[in-house]
Amino acid sequence: MRAIIAGGGIGGLTTALMLHARGIDCQVYEQSPEIRELGVGINTLPHAIRELKEVGLLDRLDAVAIRTGELIYMNRFGQEVWREPRGLDAGHDVPQFSIHRGALQGVIYQAVLDRFDEPVVATSRRVGFLEQDDEGVTVQLFDRAGNHVATDRGDVLIGADGIHSNLRATLFPDEGPPTWNGAMLWRGATEWPSFLTGRSMIIAGGMSAKAVVYPIANAPSAAPRLTNWAIVAKVGRPGTPPPRREDWSRPGRIDELLPHIARFAIPHVDVAALIAATAEFWEYPMCDRDPLSRWSHGRVTLLGDAAHPMYPVGSNGASQAILDARALADALAAGADPVQGLERYERERLPMTADVVRSNRTGGPEGIIDVVERLAPEGFDDVDSVLAYADREAIVRGYARTAGFAVASHTRPNEKERTMTETELAGVTRADRGIDDLSWNILGQTYVPKHVSERLFAWHATFPAETFVPPHIHPTQDELVHVLDGELVIVLGDGEAAARAGDVVRLPMGQPHGIFNRSGATATCLFAVAPTRKLFDLFEAIHGLEEQAPEAVVALAAQHEVEFLPPDE
Ligand SMILES: Cc1cc2nc3c(=O)[nH]c(=O)nc-3n(C[C@H](O)[C@H](O)[C@H](O)COP(=O)(O)OP(=O)(O)OC[C@H]3O[C@@H](n4cnc5c(N)ncnc54)[C@H](O)[C@@H]3O)c2cc1C
Repeated sequence: MRAIIAGGGIGGLTTALMLHARGIDCQVYEQSPEIRELGVGINTLPHAIRELKEVGLLDRLDAVAIRTGELIYMNRFGQEVWREPRGLDAGHDVPQFSIHRGALQGVIYQAVLDRFDEPVVATSRRVGFLEQDDEGVTVQLFDRAGNHVATDRGDVLIGADGIHSNLRATLFPDEGPPTWNGAMLWRGATEWPSFLTGRSMIIAGGMSAKAVVYPIANAPSAAPRLTNWAIVAKVGRPGTPPPRREDWSRPGRIDELLPHIARFAIPHVDVAALIAATAEFWEYPMCDRDPLSRWSHGRVTLLGDAAHPMYPVGSNGASQAILDARALADALAAGADPVQGLERYERERLPMTADVVRSNRTGGPEGIIDVVERLAPEGFDDVDSVLAYADREAIVRGYARTAGFAVASHTRPNEKERTMTETELAGVTRADRGIDDLSWNILGQTYVPKHVSERLFAWHATFPAETFVPPHIHPTQDELVHVLDGELVIVLGDGEAAARAGDVVRLPMGQPHGIFNRSGATATCLFAVAPTRKLFDLFEAIHGLEEQAPEAVVALAAQHEVEFLPPDE
């Protein structure tokens, strides 16, 4: 098998490494004239570092990064709202690294150069048109000036070409530009004295402006070290175009940034002085795109920012791209049919990354300081009296589960009452959270429980194309289906209707219903059933079956107040 990869960023280069480790040939095309170590600091989370460790990069990363030791959320006066250990200090078996994006890309690129016998990264090659047939996919390559320079053909094409992905635009021509949430992100890095543990990361402020500061390179004890900063502030209306097109390399303007700095008075770091000491910095409007209902089209798929551009909060952009690369390489290595491999990769990664995109829109874990600022804008004496520990924990932990990097917790799910209340359900505001690390396979669909109690059980379900829940009755429970993405056919009684993204359908108790995905694309929805946790036990039991044979599923269902109907003759 031979894969063509469009884009030599972190996603594309990691994919090349992962494919190589599984004996799959590839060719990377990068539009820039060279792989330059651009950007500023990013964080890579332990689950992504674990993947890079598996391809032998841990020591090289350790040499150029810093092992993040703790994360502290503060208000704008530096009063602590939440502190948690990170990486090894949090019990993970590998570190979380704070690292210069360019250095991360450099380590991965060097490994690509070292490991392949032939050069596999071609620069100044922009992947343009593509055509696919039953045997393979053909791409046309262009230089920076737009001249056609070459044609290549492979078994699959992977679009790792970033937020402005040309391949995504080809597959989804009506999508339009990314959407802006009205916030601007300014970021830079400079040498700065060590603060707190020397491995601490600070996120301070709230809704109106946030400051993020963390070191990205090691240095002896208290010596200055390369320190990354970012300021995020609302400057426009959500949904309008940003003042300038999003471009990771666009220099920032100090006159636009200055008004947002004055509000910070953090004792640990003089934010204004740090910024003043930085020779150059960049701006980036907080843009993302709605999650897609599918990534793979035959022999072509998307990966990293091309597949799921997300706001750069919660340390997830690069980490999710690395996880994509691993999953894609595994899926292609698993079978002879590349089309099925790409579908399998999408099934594994699309729902999870869509959750992260949505969660980042609500602020992700940083929502904790938004809430505290709203409740106590002028600071506090006791943070617990502003927002209880349990509520603060729910915000931070809820996110950790969505992004897949929570340390395993053994709490029983029915103790997680606060994950979603019935009032919140009306607006499905907590659709982005899951409980613990649970994810079940039920009749070909992925179920992620969101909340369970005696009163309510809610879960997030992903329906790959052509899957269905056969008609059944809940004799004692009502059910709500909120379609998040894609289209489902709901059979209710004798009728049936299509439910599309945004629709909420009520399936009243005692009414037979079935749910089908006939759309040809993946669909996702949030279900809530009240009043029971029996269904939770049923799903857990079905997931645990060695083989989900119809008789076994029906027998289990009968024990849990769900009655499957006999198939139509
Ligand atoms: C220059 C730069 C600086 C960045 N700085 C930061 C930062 O400071 N903080 C942060 O959080 N994130 C930053 N990012 C984004 C971050 O790297 C990504 O969110 C994450 O690593 C996912 O990477 P990706 O490989 O999917 O996309 P990207 O890192 O965006 O890489 C996409 C690559 O594809 C190339 N490309 C685009 N179109 C084509 C085409 N048609 N044919 C061939 N090649 C193409 C691009 O030149 C780019 O190298 C930056 C990205 C870039 C490109």
